[in-house]
Amino acid sequence: MEMHLEVLRHDGPARLGRLHHQRRRLLTPALLSTPGAGEQDSGGLMIAPKKELKGEGIAVYGSIFAGERVDRFGILPSFPAGYDAPRRIVEEAVEETIRFAEKHPGFGAVVEGGRYPDLRARCARALADRPILKIACADRLFENQRRLVEVLVAVRERISPNTALYVPDAPPHLFALLAYMGVDLFDMKRAVLASHGKLYHTQLEELELQQLQELPCSCSVCSRHAPAELTRELLLQHNRLVAEACIREVRNAISLNALRELVEARVACSPLATAALRILSDEHRSFLERYTPLFPYPKGGG
Ligand SMILES: [Zn+2]
Repeated sequence: MEMHLEVLRHDGPARLGRLHHQRRRLLTPALLSTPGAGEQDSGGLMIAPKKELKGEGIAVYGSIFAGERVDRFGILPSFPAGYDAPRRIVEEAVEETIRFAEKHPGFGAVVEGGRYPDLRARCARALADRPILKIACADRLFENQRRLVEVLVAVRERISPNTALYVPDAPPHLFALLAYMGVDLFDMKRAVLASHGKLYHTQLEELELQQLQELPCSCSVCSRHAPAELTRELLLQHNRLVAEACIREVRNAISLNALRELVEARVACSPLATAALRILSDEHRSFLERYTPLFPYPKGGG
């Protein structure tokens, strides 16, 4: 088997796990490296379009229309209908994505379904036993707290506990909330994009670099530079360090059964994340409580 996720412990729907990929072992929730992200913690795993992937890593095939031959392990091509397309078009895209995936059992796949939680659920159910599932159009879900919660809960509830759920493009201040809903894998794409757009990441939010009088961070970059001195490369280094710190913080919190407390602290500056946490707590209590361990320290799950 090319990849499998071993779940070590739960804290609510969040999971601490070990991802086995070829000879690599990665503690999850984990941060996947992406092209242009520079050096990362040792043991990192690259996720990239097949053409850009050198050596080990997870290939992403992209769109079915590219007609690429599937010849190495990765995330299969999907039929991308976009996020806001009319329902019947998205429905067809889901069916095409499932049909293609059925020809390649054992491979990772993409959960299509646009803005329709029931179509996401249909896609997830058909792909429930895949080793890794990527959420399509995740960046659009970050614009709407209700869709974000409904789609992730619908997907996580229908897939195998041993499926690694991958949400691309997430900013680090959402890692805790997303992990709380059962997301296992994040990537460096947002850190790279932010450094191009002069956006400075903190554990709480994304800020415009030019608005900062001082750098509110003690990393190796920020402790030696003023805001005006941050080149794109230095900003990327800082953003990468923030993302790595956030993912370690999430893993620690899960080990300590304290993820709920971390989520509450990390959503404070984001109206979207605060609202998403409220929807999750008010309307999806059974989802949150289903996996809460009975013993010891049942303080997670709110
Ligand atoms: Zn810094």
